[in-house]
Amino acid sequence: MLKYIRHVFLFLFLTVLSQIGGLVYILYIIIEKRLKLQSFLRKMSLFIGLYLIFSLLLTPLFAKQFGRKPLPLIYNKQSPVIPASVLSCLLNRHYVVPELEAILIDVSHKMGEEIQIVYLDANFPFWDGFPLLPHKSHDDGEKVDIAFIYQSKSHQYLNDGKGFLGYGKIEAPLSDEYDQAHYCEQKGYWQYSILSKIVRQNKSSTYPFSLSGNRKLLKYLANDDRVGKIFLEPHLKVRMGLDSYDKIRFHGCGAVRHDDHIHIQMKPGKF
Ligand SMILES: [Zn+2]
Repeated sequence: MLKYIRHVFLFLFLTVLSQIGGLVYILYIIIEKRLKLQSFLRKMSLFIGLYLIFSLLLTPLFAKQFGRKPLPLIYNKQSPVIPASVLSCLLNRHYVVPELEAILIDVSHKMGEEIQIVYLDANFPFWDGFPLLPHKSHDDGEKVDIAFIYQSKSHQYLNDGKGFLGYGKIEAPLSDEYDQAHYCEQKGYWQYSILSKIVRQNKSSTYPFSLSGNRKLLKYLANDDRVGKIFLEPHLKVRMGLDSYDKIRFHGCGAVRHDDHIHIQMKPGKF
């Protein structure tokens, strides 16, 4: 009985984490039974080998049928868009519709060679409506989170993802700025700042938030006709002087705070 509970738990856990992980696990159980593997190392090697074949080779091929493709894994001049963490790619959380990839590449080229777009979670490869937890809306290939731009000591731009898989390192409101997170927490939305409380906020060793770099990035995104909404914490919108951009908006207390990353979603309808 315990064995079956463990199988069900692992199936659900791997599915929630990577979408295809649960199916790979079922295949693994079938093959492992036939091969009668005894050692833990051999069992793990079989599962990891199967998972990598599916994740790296087969999933990108099948995702095409669902109108999605993986965002680039490594930097190249034609597509200067890179992941904050290779782990999110291994978990198949970097799939988008081709139009969204085109938006990121176009904006990245506009930003100039010194800055690449660094993406965080996007969507799973298959099925509209399949949730990419813990996100509320990344379920149709048309949403992606990207990292802020920071300034390095030599005044070069830097936009590697910070925090846990690029999330959780916040650019908190200053004492004279509106504190949306405080308001949401007062209203009982306990989840609003949860990640920023888990991820260490080590200010002294981090590079400063680039006001000009992020303003430029957000303006290019907001001015792109294919972009529908951009979620950003209200105090950063005001700090960057972006009040007139209606596309850049507050996402509601039911979500999580957006002063650690930028959320982009496409306008409904095909381009
Ligand atoms: Zn998002």
